[in-house]
Amino acid sequence: MNVLFVASECAPFVKTGGLADVVGAVPKALKALGVNVKILMPAYKGLGELAGSGKSVWKSAGMFGGKAELLSMEADGLDLLLLDAPHLYDRPGSIYLDETGHDWHDNHLRFGALCHVGCEIGLHGVDNWKPDIVHAHDWQAGLIPVLLKQQSAPAPKTIITIHNIAFQGLFDAETRHTLGVSDEMFTFETAEYWGKVGFLKGGIALADKITTVSPTYARELMTSEFGMGLDGLMQARRDDLSGILNGIDLDVWNPATDVALPRNYTARSLKRKAENRAALEDRFGLNPDPKALMFCVVSRLTTQKGLDVLLDVVPHLVERGAQLAVLGSGDPAIEEGFRQASRKYPGSIGVIIGYDEELSHLMQGGADSILVPSRFEPCGLTQLYGLRYGTLPVVAATGGLADTVIDASPKTLKSKTATGFTFSPVSSEGLAEVISRACDMFYAPDKWLSMQRSAMRYPVDWEQSALTYLKLYEELAADNNAAGHGD
Ligand code: ADP
Repeated sequence: MNVLFVASECAPFVKTGGLADVVGAVPKALKALGVNVKILMPAYKGLGELAGSGKSVWKSAGMFGGKAELLSMEADGLDLLLLDAPHLYDRPGSIYLDETGHDWHDNHLRFGALCHVGCEIGLHGVDNWKPDIVHAHDWQAGLIPVLLKQQSAPAPKTIITIHNIAFQGLFDAETRHTLGVSDEMFTFETAEYWGKVGFLKGGIALADKITTVSPTYARELMTSEFGMGLDGLMQARRDDLSGILNGIDLDVWNPATDVALPRNYTARSLKRKAENRAALEDRFGLNPDPKALMFCVVSRLTTQKGLDVLLDVVPHLVERGAQLAVLGSGDPAIEEGFRQASRKYPGSIGVIIGYDEELSHLMQGGADSILVPSRFEPCGLTQLYGLRYGTLPVVAATGGLADTVIDASPKTLKSKTATGFTFSPVSSEGLAEVISRACDMFYAPDKWLSMQRSAMRYPVDWEQSALTYLKLYEELAADNNAAGHGD
């Protein structure tokens, strides 16, 4: 089984969020099941040397105003196809935003090119390799099912995975001419969305199967509260929609071997976490006080993540004698809010604005609890890392958070299945209350320890989900062969 992944991010090479972690981890789990995955993504400037190590397998003299080349290589156990098109990707800074913080003006071309090349590989293969399935991730790859549907040659089946429906890739109608989207593919049933070209809309409308990253989010997507305008389409496609829970890469996220931790530990040696906590106190300027429950946040600082609500609750958290370490960046008002909180409560609230992969590991290894009060959360990964690191998640009961964290109740405590704390709906009162519940539990160290052990036992690997993806691929490939499209 050959599968082409097409995505804009892939860890450890380029990452702005969970999409990268997933795209970097699933292929490894699928490989163990005999699936051969190649990942197509842009050769961004930051990839530098990696791109230089590739073998040229395809060239185009004219890809939206410049030359393009595909470079093939193996790195970190992944088979990569990097699309090198300097006029589109060789730029400093963020992969999505320009220096002023706005989307790059030509994002439709940058990711349109990715889709065209994905389509080309789907149809003709590359370097003596042809995919049975093209698996598109998020809006940046959403045009692939559209481009494949609009031509007559036998095409492989497609899957689109929605990692976050809030990002849809909407562009002015006239871009469709440059993008090569036909009139037939610019209708209500295809890629047109309120007069615009919708990359994600087109992908959802035309992919053979649609997945998202948790069963609860799959159901939520069909509601007006969470569907971001696409809920009607999601309902229409409900028979082809499934929620497959994300896992985590245990080679990268394992407290027993994590090189970012001053002290490694297991469920049997949780006391050693104290050394990591000390390092964290140092980094965030927090008072050394093992009796204070140390919460952490590792996140984009946005309203999606409910961090404006957390700001409201900071005085309560401090009043309860807890501490908070925040690592993240995003919405300037929320960034400023946390800076002010750390000035107001020095020693109790510590904030580092920025993106720091290594520090994010130390936070999971050192803090007692991770806060994820998201308004919506397709799957969420930081709570899964929290489970694995015995850093008990305190989460809103939405999307994948609801699917992965088992709330502490008399019943779940008794059966030793409680792994964290959940609350709903997202409000300051609700968050204050759940923070109090976590504090109360922390002051009962035996119960806390027992929960940490349950959390660390909870399966967060890719095994089950990789099997589910494989089943989906096999179903689609069988359809393809039945239709005479296999070769
Ligand atoms: P999303 O993809 O919506 O941002 P997820 O929870 O699915 O949220 O994934 C976020 C990923 O990005 C996690 O791996 C998390 O550790 C990482 N991350 C988020 N913010 C930071 C940061 N400031 N520094 C380091 N890692 C971060």
